[in-house]
Amino acid sequence: MTKWVYSFGGGTADGKADLRNLLGGKGANLAEMSALGLPVPPGFTITTEVCTYFNQHGHSYPDSLADELAQALAKVEAEVGALFGDAKNPLLVSVRSGARVSMPGMMDTVLNLGLNDVTVEGLASRSGDPRFAYDSYRRFIQMYSNVVLGVDHHNFEEILELEKEEKGVSLDTELNAEDWQRIIVQYKERVEEEHGKAFPQDPKEQLWGAIEAVFGSWMNQRAITYRRLHGVPEDWGTAVNVQAMVFGNMGDDCATGVAFTRDPSTGRNYFYGEYLVNAQGEDVVAGIRTPQSLTKAAREESGGDLPSMEEVMPEVFGQLLAVRERLERHYRDMQDIEFTVQSGKLYMLQTRSGKRTTPAALKIAVDMVADGLITREEAVQRIDPLQLDQLLHPTLDPNAERVIVARGLPASPGAASGIIVFSADEAEKRAQAGEAVILCRVETSPEDIHGMHAAKGILTTRGGMTSHAAVVARGMGRACVAGAGELRVDYRNGTIRVRDIELKAGDTITIDGSSGEIYRGAVQTIQPELSGDFATLMTWADGIRTLKVRTNAETPTDCRTAISFGAEGIGLCRTEHMFFDTTRIVAVREMILAEHTEGRRKALAKLLPMQRQDFVEIFKIMRGLPVTIRLLDPPLHEFLPREETEFSEVAEAAGVSVELLRDRVIKLAEMNPMLGHRGCRLAITYPEIYEMQARAIFEAAVAVQKESGEAPLVEVMIPLVSMEAELARLTALVRDVAEAVFKETGERLEYLVGTMIELPRACLLADRIAKDAEFFSFGTNDLTQTTFGLSRDDAGNFLPAYEARGILEQDPFVSLDQDGVGQLVAMAAERGRRTRENIKLGICGEHGGDPASVRFCHGVGLDYVSCSPFRVPIARLAAAQAALQKAERDV
Ligand code: PEP
Ligand code: MG
Repeated sequence: MTKWVYSFGGGTADGKADLRNLLGGKGANLAEMSALGLPVPPGFTITTEVCTYFNQHGHSYPDSLADELAQALAKVEAEVGALFGDAKNPLLVSVRSGARVSMPGMMDTVLNLGLNDVTVEGLASRSGDPRFAYDSYRRFIQMYSNVVLGVDHHNFEEILELEKEEKGVSLDTELNAEDWQRIIVQYKERVEEEHGKAFPQDPKEQLWGAIEAVFGSWMNQRAITYRRLHGVPEDWGTAVNVQAMVFGNMGDDCATGVAFTRDPSTGRNYFYGEYLVNAQGEDVVAGIRTPQSLTKAAREESGGDLPSMEEVMPEVFGQLLAVRERLERHYRDMQDIEFTVQSGKLYMLQTRSGKRTTPAALKIAVDMVADGLITREEAVQRIDPLQLDQLLHPTLDPNAERVIVARGLPASPGAASGIIVFSADEAEKRAQAGEAVILCRVETSPEDIHGMHAAKGILTTRGGMTSHAAVVARGMGRACVAGAGELRVDYRNGTIRVRDIELKAGDTITIDGSSGEIYRGAVQTIQPELSGDFATLMTWADGIRTLKVRTNAETPTDCRTAISFGAEGIGLCRTEHMFFDTTRIVAVREMILAEHTEGRRKALAKLLPMQRQDFVEIFKIMRGLPVTIRLLDPPLHEFLPREETEFSEVAEAAGVSVELLRDRVIKLAEMNPMLGHRGCRLAITYPEIYEMQARAIFEAAVAVQKESGEAPLVEVMIPLVSMEAELARLTALVRDVAEAVFKETGERLEYLVGTMIELPRACLLADRIAKDAEFFSFGTNDLTQTTFGLSRDDAGNFLPAYEARGILEQDPFVSLDQDGVGQLVAMAAERGRRTRENIKLGICGEHGGDPASVRFCHGVGLDYVSCSPFRVPIARLAAAQAALQKAERDV
């Protein structure tokens, strides 16, 4: 029989960490901590399978759930020594969601459940603190009514504000038991008005209501958006954790806090966290009160004047330190923990792998290898390749001029400039229009996720390092400055004020998420050095991977950048990009507009020295590494002007009449240019174009060899081949030119001639094509386009709808469609090798920098992937992980 409920507490547990899929992350870790003997308040977890059942069966439950729950609750009662709903000694519980992966702020929590008009009296007398009891009850009414009954927060805030005003106080702490009692009466009246029914007094009804709300919230819009952004499948579901309450707000020997076992921003190995005396957990994350440091050292470093936990409660702090050690050793990873101290006793409420910035992830992984906690292979597997992207984010140029306006907390690293916007919707709108925006908010909430995603940076005026804005921004890799309390944000007037400065919506600011500083205007940024832990980890990755990583580059700058990122060659040099230069386009147009071969040759002769010089530079930078040069690919009309207004100028520069130009533009226009006169088809009709390019390549290679004594490794690539005869002809052409150049110069060098495989027919006939091709490079951009029959230039208009409706999981132009396009790649690789055993195989479509696609390429045994320079580190790491995963599977 299926088990739906798993108990934990009292030093034992039904479940453990490896039941994460069933118990969710939180539930699995509570079970694990409990089994380790750490002080965890007892409770139970209702499995994710119940969530799936619930959402598939019209919000109903499996038959045996009620019985299992009753038994589990009885165990908790016995462990705590209190009874649920008991008038004298009531057990109170928290109800929390917990999916397989943590979804910050996405799901709902209810605390203090079990309180009602009767049990509150019991709590008051047992705790000896009526104020605390009534405060807890009103918090419960507020939370439960909001989360479960859907009564908006402002109803309660209004009542509370009026009550404080009447009493002439400004802080909640200034209200006494009688005040809270009055407020409770009003709260309950308001709930009845808004909800149409009285606030439930039966604790069992409360419990089932809360459970239902958690399961239901798996399908709320915020959760759906989060899942879409983070690729979390809907069928995972969430678990529900019901746990005995412990109170951090029962007096000055009570506290609550959150901590990371290492610094989540830098990875530094020191205990990092915040706590509040006499408070409940939500107070720390909500940013209502300013939290205090855990350690004395951290307090001194930040210059804070409120005492640290180490100073206030040294004994409990010592226990917490021991727990920190224990958890790190057990989980062998940095942990994010939540704890509560009730009347001087420590309770652990949560532990999970802590979210961290990329620099921190690298430092922690490298440090843990040094400490012998994990192996190098594990370290390499711990880093999400896409996360490396964060490291490539700019930092502020130290020499740039800047006007600082304020300071906040350095919540998520990276520097970003953009215009000020105040709402998530506005951020999304302006970003879609191509503007860089900084989302400025008092604080953020889960409703703002889409705007945070669209923004370059996030600035908040309230909240700490563990506030919603900080946690989410770090996860997304957005720069974030949080809790910049000096700033006054005025949403209504669209302004931010600080001292005598006023910034308006649309003004440009720069934020530095590494220092917490905020500047007026745009401040110059620079790219970071990729050294230290990054370099160490990449060296380990390089030692593991078998797939080579090249780059797609054609400018000297891109080539140098790629080399600095570890590129091992150029996999695609798109020569047409070199033709768009203002000094060259004239000669290119002259060539296109020429009516006979002679005219074309004349124009091409002007281009020859320029192309040669390009290649000389590239060969020098690449110093003997392989360089794949693709001969001209796009349809010729791309080089001609589109607008009538440009015609006379272009015609004059090219030395032809406007009429002739117009005539050529009309002639060259195609219905489907992507399937038209392009790629190798150009050279079948105008072989002189490829002749010139081949000559430029070989003359350059010979010149560099002569000058440096180092032979460039040239690979000449013919694009868009679908017939073996196309390739046969053009390979012969390239080889003839090479021979001619070698003869003229008296120098020779090794080179390869190969083709791009970017059409389905080429995949089907790869065995025949391989007769003339010494290498294949999969052009998966065109191959995706032609396999799906999906225009790569127009698909953006409707593909998002396919993703939204679940027809496509991912944009196939971003991550390789392994089922379809992948089959063609695998087939072509296999057929190519059948003809030519050691044929060199690579990929140069955009997929070469996508981790999942890199894994696929490793799987089908390609020799290399090639991607844009900034993706090179991502591909290196992904290739290492692919090798490790394959090795694991093969064992
Ligand atoms: C491709 O088609 O995958 C490719 C790399 O070439 P391009 O993007 O230039 O068409
Ligand atoms: Mg292509």
